[in-house]
Amino acid sequence: MKGICILGSTGSIGVSSLDVIRLNSDLYRVIALTANENIEKLFQQCIEFQPEYAVLVGEENSKLLRDKLKAAGYPKINVISGTESLENVAKLSQVDYVIAAIVGAAGLLPTLSAAKAGKRVLLANKEALVMSGDIFMATVKNHHAELLPLDSEHNAIFQCMPPNYKVTEQAAGIRKIILTASGGPFLNKKLADLEKVTPQQACAHPNWSMGKKISVDSATLMNKGLEVIEASYLFDLPVEKIDVVIHPQSIVHSMVDYLDGSVLAQMGNPDMRTPIAQALAWPARHASGVSPLDFMVNNKLTFEQPDFNNFPCLRFAFDALKVKGTAPAILNAANEVAVDAFLEQRIKFMDIPRVIDKVLNYFPVEGVESIDAVLSADTKARQYAMKTIRELQA
Ligand code: NAD
Ligand code: MG
Repeated sequence: MKGICILGSTGSIGVSSLDVIRLNSDLYRVIALTANENIEKLFQQCIEFQPEYAVLVGEENSKLLRDKLKAAGYPKINVISGTESLENVAKLSQVDYVIAAIVGAAGLLPTLSAAKAGKRVLLANKEALVMSGDIFMATVKNHHAELLPLDSEHNAIFQCMPPNYKVTEQAAGIRKIILTASGGPFLNKKLADLEKVTPQQACAHPNWSMGKKISVDSATLMNKGLEVIEASYLFDLPVEKIDVVIHPQSIVHSMVDYLDGSVLAQMGNPDMRTPIAQALAWPARHASGVSPLDFMVNNKLTFEQPDFNNFPCLRFAFDALKVKGTAPAILNAANEVAVDAFLEQRIKFMDIPRVIDKVLNYFPVEGVESIDAVLSADTKARQYAMKTIRELQA
């Protein structure tokens, strides 16, 4: 039995992970579950999976959960709080696999803690890798952690790599990798109409059901931009070897284009339980609960160019990857703040790229030698993004 820690168990990826674990309960034992503030959902998960540890970030909330679990007859589950507890449960000796499914920069230190402890890290939290790129990958290598991508595109590419391929290495014989993008809910919308779209429309993704932040990122194509950066670090490939194509059906999850003309693709229904099951079981395979792909239903697969004019966030990400240093962390921080403001209806949809552009231009790019340098770039970029948003509102 493999011991599992899920960082962010109450989110979309966390819930899908527990679905796969439930289906394969003879193989996995849940050791730790963590959440930001959703007491009720974490309570239900604790009752079903009876982990040794449950973490809620706030102390008050964790006390409420502890009392609730005691009253329900589960006094043995250790309910703890604080961001340090997230790092601590990720390195417990009884944990073999850590599912990194916190959204945003908040996931960085707990995910790094898992890597430092040499765990199998199933990475959904792309922001952590985007922010800290080289440092993150060096941590994985130096501590002999096993990094497996959960992001569907990167998981697809991993599956199309040569036999015995390890993430962190550059595989031989590759011309380029091709990340597919659905195009999000606003594919083919006119620029003028994009100014008027609402958070509700932005979160209504045509193919995937996901958390709010990544849904907005999919609508701006920033999600694909973050994924380009993620792919460059995971597969040790330069920006010139990474392409993006729009594939509205989300059946081909990404491709590897080899020097001999072969293009390998991984396909399946758009359901995150497939990459989760693949990474949990790797190198074996087991069930995920996803229904088989029906080619008679999905009988048209189309591909087109991304529109960098309507979706400037994709261009910002390519540019940030070209310069590296603090640029990806600044891009990510400005985006997180702008997406929050859009979700709270403080700015318009097209203000998201405006804010990010302003923040990226304000800070000179610096080299990053330490996680402290990454966190400092993140903090400064957030402050300047908030200031920019206040000015937009004035
Ligand atoms: P979500 O919003 O549904 O869930 C986020 C989880 O993180 C929740 O459990 C929440 O409690 C926790 N969390 C939020 N803020 C926190 C904080 N400050 N401290 C500690 N915990 C916190 O998000 P999601 O859609 O599940 O996405 C999670 C990550 O996976 C993101 O990085 C996203 O880009 C990536 N991802 C998601 C999908 C998807 O289909 N949802 C696909 C690919 C990649
Ligand atoms: Mg993805």
